[in-house]
Amino acid sequence: MAILNIRKEGDPILRRSSREVDVITPRITTLIEDMVDTLHKADGCGLAAPQVGVLKRVVIIETEPGIIYKMINPEIISSSGSQNEAEGCLSIPGKWGITERPAKVTVRATGIDGRTFELTGEGLLARAICHELDHLDGKLFTDCAIRMLDPDEVE
Ligand code: ZN
Repeated sequence: MAILNIRKEGDPILRRSSREVDVITPRITTLIEDMVDTLHKADGCGLAAPQVGVLKRVVIIETEPGIIYKMINPEIISSSGSQNEAEGCLSIPGKWGITERPAKVTVRATGIDGRTFELTGEGLLARAICHELDHLDGKLFTDCAIRMLDPDEVE
């Protein structure tokens, strides 16, 4: 296990597109385990591989403690509704903004066992899925924020 360095806004790697994973090698499974350790240390609810300097289409999400979704080559296959909520990012510490995201999304991904699965999320999970998948295309929440919050609006 290892704690990886989380890249911060301004690092050009966060603006690049990530490549699909063709084969789930031990390197990929180790990356995912290290991402889990890194996410726990940072106390976040999601992390995408480019945030730790790896341009691969891999994300992990843990919006409920203990339930960690590990997704390889994830794709949103349907979305509905909308929600406007506050959002932050481990790569943009100390900043929060209101974003508009779908209320509900379904994502299809490959798991570390190589099997395809689908996951439907609402509320925070839907937001986290959209946020983490955006990272794979070099997008940050500040790009789509309706407005940024003042520090005194954030607890
Ligand atoms: Zn982020």
